Amino acid sequence: MVLYYRSTRSEQTQNLTASEAILQGLAPDNGLYVPTQMPQLKEDLATLLAKDYPAMAFSILKVFLDDFSDDDLQACIDAAYQDTFDTADITPIRSVGPHHFLELFHGPTLAFKDVALQLLPQLMVTAMKMHASDKKVAILTATSGDTGKAAMAGFADVPNTKIIVFYPQAGVSPIQKQQMITQVGQNVTVVGIDGNFDDAQTNVKHILNDNVIVKKLARNHIQFSSANSINIGRLVPQIVYYFNAYGQLVQNGTVKLGETVDFSVPTGNFGDILAGWYAKQLGLPINKLICASNANNVLTDFFTTGVYNRKRDFHLTSSPSMDILVSSNLERLLFYSFDQDAAALAKFMTTFETKGRAELPDTARQKLTDFVAFSTDEVDTLTTIRLMQTKYQYTIDPHTAVATHAAIQYSQEHKSEARPLIILSTANPYKFPEVVLHALTNHQPSETDFAAIQALSNLIELPVPKAIRRLKHAKVLHEQTIPVAKMSDLVLNTLSEDKSKSKDVKN
Ligand SMILES: *Cc1c(COP(=O)(O)O)cnc(C)c1O
Repeated sequence: MVLYYRSTRSEQTQNLTASEAILQGLAPDNGLYVPTQMPQLKEDLATLLAKDYPAMAFSILKVFLDDFSDDDLQACIDAAYQDTFDTADITPIRSVGPHHFLELFHGPTLAFKDVALQLLPQLMVTAMKMHASDKKVAILTATSGDTGKAAMAGFADVPNTKIIVFYPQAGVSPIQKQQMITQVGQNVTVVGIDGNFDDAQTNVKHILNDNVIVKKLARNHIQFSSANSINIGRLVPQIVYYFNAYGQLVQNGTVKLGETVDFSVPTGNFGDILAGWYAKQLGLPINKLICASNANNVLTDFFTTGVYNRKRDFHLTSSPSMDILVSSNLERLLFYSFDQDAAALAKFMTTFETKGRAELPDTARQKLTDFVAFSTDEVDTLTTIRLMQTKYQYTIDPHTAVATHAAIQYSQEHKSEARPLIILSTANPYKFPEVVLHALTNHQPSETDFAAIQALSNLIELPVPKAIRRLKHAKVLHEQTIPVAKMSDLVLNTLSEDKSKSKDVKN
């Protein structure tokens, strides 16, 4: 039996197989694809947990992406994880004191996004082959800093694909920006916009479903897709490391098989933590998923009051990848909270999109007991970085610090029912050297990025990753910045340039 994917927003939209949903990205009615029924694992938990990362990934991906052949899926996983991460176990746990950090930043761009974005291009190319498509896929991506680089690293020079990345000019760290504007690859375009991440994401969604643009591209045999976590092919690979983390703690005796654990997840677009929720649906013994936000605390308010309200000040923080007011993937959770009632969900989303605020009915709110939420301000973020360093000589990045602070708060409130708590560590601290240096030395950052990296490396044990050292001399290839209003023009121009280029070749 084939597993189908449906849109969260209507019953009418055609159901797609996994490979079709990956190629499509966003549903035509602006909804997100979700499986029509929750897949079930084929093995028991003990068998699954005994597997290494790639084998575990195969077992989990297979039940979600069941129209991929075993051979194709295995080839995708091999290409994604063989020799691309700096450690064979892909997502190792580092335990310091009572804290278990799941290090998700060992991939090529040093943030957790690599775990999914090393795999997504493989899945997409395979999906294109499965459908004998003569089309090219144009990937549109909005980034709050890490997705853009990780997506380009995954898609660079992948045949028959083109990728366009939009980042907020004033909203990414200097290293994140440097990583993006030095990206090589014939098929990559990256531009800064004069808005924030929400502007980038909202406009990307509009462009993806803009009929005039879509038809124009179709005439040139180009189809849009997305590398953001609205794409189900981005979300599913993230389920794997929740199981892998639990498996590591079972193997080293910290957790007894079947015992429940908590996860604290630094959250922006709600993709990472939603993958944890799916892991729980598949039977991983999770007690609570702690949704950790920075000063942009829309989700904290949502989980504590049931009101989803983006009408508030937007803060630029030291954890820029979480500077988000509208979290795309919350829609998938809301869909389940409405008992998969697409009409009710669509109504809620329309209210939210037009009024900026929507209130969840009590019946739906009662379905959200898997989550608790905390927000951490700038001062506490820095204090937490310093605390982990002085207590355990363990250096964390600002996003991880937000999740650590939430974890500590949660533990204090639940002392009597303490259970192992895993903190998702989403970026290498050298991606944010000014902030970490500031946290550790109290000096206001005055140094340039690379001086800060040097100063930081003199202070901490962690070596500077090669990918960061290389940046210093990397050539800047993408300097373009545009107003938000020009995003669709840029997409059209970039994708029609392609045509003229291929003409040149023929001439
Ligand atoms: C993207 C990102 C997050 C937030 O993840 P979401 O899936 O968007 O919630 C947290 N930390 C880092 C370092 C990131 O790059």
